[in-house]
Amino acid sequence: MEDIELLQAGWEALLPADHGLDFSLDPVTRAPEEWRSLLSPAAYDVLRKEGTERAGSHPYNIEKRDGVFLCAGCDLPLFTSAMKYDSGTGWPSFFTHIPGHMGTKKDFKLIWPRTEYHCIRCEGHQGHVFDDGPPPTGQRWCNNGVALRFVPRES
Ligand SMILES: [Zn+2]
Repeated sequence: MEDIELLQAGWEALLPADHGLDFSLDPVTRAPEEWRSLLSPAAYDVLRKEGTERAGSHPYNIEKRDGVFLCAGCDLPLFTSAMKYDSGTGWPSFFTHIPGHMGTKKDFKLIWPRTEYHCIRCEGHQGHVFDDGPPPTGQRWCNNGVALRFVPRES
């Protein structure tokens, strides 16, 4: 798993030098009305209500440029382009994530339990993780595009 650790460690180098982002993991908490004023209705539904966008509806599903995917709620980096793959599901999919920036919990909304995951800083819902992903992790982090903000690498 050495390669995975290398890949996970490389996220900061993909950001522009003047990114101005804060990587602190101090919790970001806001009242529902405040989130509602800051987010689009679609992003609010996913991030704060654990909604799911329609498959194939978001352009990040086919985003292939190098760069970093941030939480759309608080701009914490969650994935890089090197972690992304085409799962064919219609949702942006990743085989791993930036360590320490994601939290998980069991979700019993459907008959069978699924593992929900969210941004560790603002607790914004991102998607669900499954065990049918590609090597080397075998994981499929199935994300809502609307819950992310993509920052392309400077060319
Ligand atoms: Zn967040």
